[in-house]
Amino acid sequence: MPFPTDKLRVKPNDKVALATIDTRATPGWDADDKSGGIDHTASLNGRLEALQELLYAEGKHRVLVVLQAMDAAGKDGTIKHVFDGVNPSGVKVASFKKPSALELSHDYLWRIHAHTPANGELVIFNRSHYEDVLVVRVLGLIDDDHAKKRFEHIRGFEQMLADEGTTIVKIFLHISPEEQKERLQARLDEADKNWKFDPADLDARAHWHEYQSAFEEAMSATSTEQAPWYIIPADRKWYRNLAISEILLDVLEGLTMSFPTPADGLDQITIDDVSRAFGV
Ligand code: AMP
Ligand code: MG
Repeated sequence: MPFPTDKLRVKPNDKVALATIDTRATPGWDADDKSGGIDHTASLNGRLEALQELLYAEGKHRVLVVLQAMDAAGKDGTIKHVFDGVNPSGVKVASFKKPSALELSHDYLWRIHAHTPANGELVIFNRSHYEDVLVVRVLGLIDDDHAKKRFEHIRGFEQMLADEGTTIVKIFLHISPEEQKERLQARLDEADKNWKFDPADLDARAHWHEYQSAFEEAMSATSTEQAPWYIIPADRKWYRNLAISEILLDVLEGLTMSFPTPADGLDQITIDDVSRAFGV
C-alpha cells in the first residue's frame, strides 16, 4: 500500500487546526511496529541517496526543503537521519538564526534568497523566511496586517522560485508540549546534550499557544500547489524520519530525471595500462 503522503499535505485554502492533529499519530504505519519502521526508513534512505545523486548528475532541477517547528521538535535530528549518506557535494543546509544588523537592514527575504538551491542542488532550510511571520509576530514586532502582507510576499516569492524551476517542500514537525518538555529536560540532564540547551527556548515555550496559532495562520495562508506544507506528527522520532523520507522520495521520483547522455565515442576509448602510459 503506498504511503499516504497526501494525508499529511495541507491543501490550498485548508484551514489548519493543529489541535485536531495527534502528535503521536503514525498514518501509513503501525504505531506498534517501531523496529519495522526503522528498517523501512533505512531502505528508503538508500533510494534517497540514489535519487540525490541523479539530481546532482543531471544538474537540471533544484529542490528546496523548508523545515519549521518549535524548539526540540527534531529539525536537526531530521537532517541528521533522513539525509544520512547523501552526497554532501549536492546537499546544503542553510540555518537561519536571529538576523544580524546587516540582515536586518535589508528586507526579510534578502538573506533567504542567497541560499536557495542552484541547478542540481538540494537545499534544506533549517528555519527560514517563515520565522518572519512566526517569532517576529509572536514578539509583536509586526502586527496582523503586516503579517498578511508578508503571506502575500511569501506566496509570490515561492511562486517565482517554482516557476523558475525549484521544487519546494515545506515541513512542519508537530510535537506536543509534553514531548517538548521531556526533550528539553533531557538536554538539562544528559551531559552530552547540555550544549543543545538554550534558555531562550523556555521563552518560546511560554508562548506555546501563540506560536501554534501563528503556525496555523502561516501554513493556511501559504500552502499552495507549488509549495505545499506537510504536517508531520513528530512525537515519535522514528515515524517522523519515515514520513519525511517517503515525502522526499515522492517529490524526487516525480521529477522524472535521467543521467546526462554520455559523450560520443566513449565505447571506443581504451584506458592504457600504467606501464605503457608512463613509458616504463
Ligand atoms: P536555533 O535554530 O534553535 O539555533 O535558534 C535560532 C533562533 O533564531 C530561534 O530562536 C529563532 O526563533 C531565531 N530566529 C530565526 N530567524 C529569525 C528572525 N527572522 N527573526 C527573529 N528571530 C529569528
Ligand atoms: Mg534551539
